[in-house]
Amino acid sequence: MNAEIITSGAELLLGETVDTNSTYIARALRDIGVNLYYKTSVGDNVDRMALVVCQALERSGIVITTGGLGPTVDDVTREAVAQAIGRPLILYPECMARIEAIFARWGRQVGENNRRQAYLPDGASPIPNPVGTAPGFIVETDQGTVIALPGVPREMERLMQDTVLPYLRGRMGAAHVIIKVKSLRTVGLGESWIDERIDSLMRSANPTVGLAAHTGLVDVRITARAATEAEADAMIAEMEAQVRGRIGDDAIFSAGDDRLEEVTTRLLAQAGVRLALVESATGGEVARMLRSTAEGVQVVTAAHVVDGPEALAALLDISPAQLDADGWVSQMAATAVAASLIDTCEGGWGLAVLGDMGAHGDVYGEETGQTYVALGTPGSPEVRRYPYGGDGFLARRWVSVRTVDLLRRQALAQLAAGG
Ligand code: AMP
Ligand code: MG
Repeated sequence: MNAEIITSGAELLLGETVDTNSTYIARALRDIGVNLYYKTSVGDNVDRMALVVCQALERSGIVITTGGLGPTVDDVTREAVAQAIGRPLILYPECMARIEAIFARWGRQVGENNRRQAYLPDGASPIPNPVGTAPGFIVETDQGTVIALPGVPREMERLMQDTVLPYLRGRMGAAHVIIKVKSLRTVGLGESWIDERIDSLMRSANPTVGLAAHTGLVDVRITARAATEAEADAMIAEMEAQVRGRIGDDAIFSAGDDRLEEVTTRLLAQAGVRLALVESATGGEVARMLRSTAEGVQVVTAAHVVDGPEALAALLDISPAQLDADGWVSQMAATAVAASLIDTCEGGWGLAVLGDMGAHGDVYGEETGQTYVALGTPGSPEVRRYPYGGDGFLARRWVSVRTVDLLRRQALAQLAAGG
């Protein structure tokens, strides 16, 4: 079954309201296996909306609209749908009775504009709206079915849950399918690097494989459509094994909803690690990430942000000469700082994130900065250099994500070694 969504309202086209209704409906359709191929937004104009509804009915069996069911003149959905399907608007007495009852309770007169809400295209079934005055409606025609829902998200959601989804499930009948999604969440791999390796898997029609990148992290989403949940799970498991075979397990930190920092701090806590850290160019982002989790609050025993070598030397028992030899943004300085932090906490690891993001510009620009990250553990220190800079949030975010990932990998190594 193919559906499409039409959202209406000048506020959407003017960029004043974010169209969250279509996202909600799209997910609901996905979950019951209805295909969605088009979404359209249109203003509050009868002719243009009627045209869009006509076009939608040519392509799709189910057309779901939101908005334009209110009492005011700019609420044109009832007229537009009537025009598109060539039927008159007629009075629905039960809808009128409900509107009158609401107004009577409020002690107010029903105005002419509210009466308009009781007129629906001939042959439509009203959708009761327990959380607002305007009913929605479903109208089945030879060209296809139009389902009209209110624009207010709370009302739209209620009508979807109470009436529209049961209606669509009933229409799906034996064609009813389960859709399951699994995200393999990766860190440290470029989107194009992954793309090259799983290119052929991404052409699969079912399960589908897609990528979603979020500043430093890339999710590989596997979506399976099957008659039963067990079948969908089996299809996902087989595809997951292939994806892992191509990109490796190391970079996959989660196969669910867990965030990188949650996975990392959980592993650190399991390994009994306590961490003291100093950051410069990341401005506290690494500490913020780690401390945003339940375990992070215990794992991180001290977190400092410093803005120069003097502040650093004052904070730790390090001579400025030790920092100055190669400059304070250097492998040597980072390693020395990490080592001196180890002693400040018991069971301790020391982490130094010392960087210079460059004065101005963008992370993609020429004026690149650099950050040295050193992690001191009871074993030999791990040092990384990240060549990212710029005054935007991207460089800070990339360095912070890679640094948290370094902690994750070291915690895994410690757990593997310690048993
Ligand atoms: P309407 O039913 O067209 O009068 O819409 C009522 C209100 O619902 C609008 O003022 C918007 O704030 C909100 N709304 C309408 N359409 C959407 C949409 N697609 N996504 C989110 N909010 C919406
Ligand atoms: Mg509107």
